[in-house]
Amino acid sequence: MLVYGNRLIYRYLSDFLGLFYPKYCSLCSEVLVYGERCLCSYCLSSLPLTDFCEQINNPAELVFAGKVPVFRATAYCYFRKEGITQHIIHLLKYKNNQQIGIVLGELLGAQLSQNQDFNSVDFLIPLPLHKKRKKTRGYNQSEIICKGIANVMPKQILTNAIKRVIYTSTQTKKSIYSRYENLACAFELNQTDNLEGKHLLLVDDVLTTGSSLSSAIEVLMKIKNIKISVACIAFAGH
Ligand SMILES: [Zn+2]
Repeated sequence: MLVYGNRLIYRYLSDFLGLFYPKYCSLCSEVLVYGERCLCSYCLSSLPLTDFCEQINNPAELVFAGKVPVFRATAYCYFRKEGITQHIIHLLKYKNNQQIGIVLGELLGAQLSQNQDFNSVDFLIPLPLHKKRKKTRGYNQSEIICKGIANVMPKQILTNAIKRVIYTSTQTKKSIYSRYENLACAFELNQTDNLEGKHLLLVDDVLTTGSSLSSAIEVLMKIKNIKISVACIAFAGH
């Protein structure tokens, strides 16, 4: 009863403070109501969700087919140009909106934890940024997503299993093929003690050609009996 009472007081207090310090939806700027974080219910319900998590040989998994062995792969929503997902990724990567990454990570994590294949992972590995890029941005967006996932699916996050050794500055302007070549040796194993025989979940923001993820997976495959799955927020492939 006391807990319920406290919760009620908190709710009144947060509604009351909201009158003076309202919080807004990161996407549509509507005032958020109690229980909403970062995104309003309308925007949340407009996310173009995939059902990849429950689907074997889904489009996210086909991205890696014939390139690198991936146990399972999934992405939470579709990335459409000028769409809501692109807006979210832009806020997360370029506007320092880390909370939106946590919220999306939690949504993804809730889905993963309901699936036996994904729930069996031992560790979460955020795709690393080059240290120079991380310094400019101030954070690695994939690490933020991992924190969100771990809030609802409690798994340890490993940030130093691999490191990115090549700094690619104008990646978006290059063609798919030169990007692939560019990233061929972009990663290096770093701290891999006790990873033999484990199931790793590699996490990134957007899955497009999968070239950086494939390159990271290739490197992780050097660990004995390793099993690798992939989870992203957005799917921009075909
Ligand atoms: Zn909204």
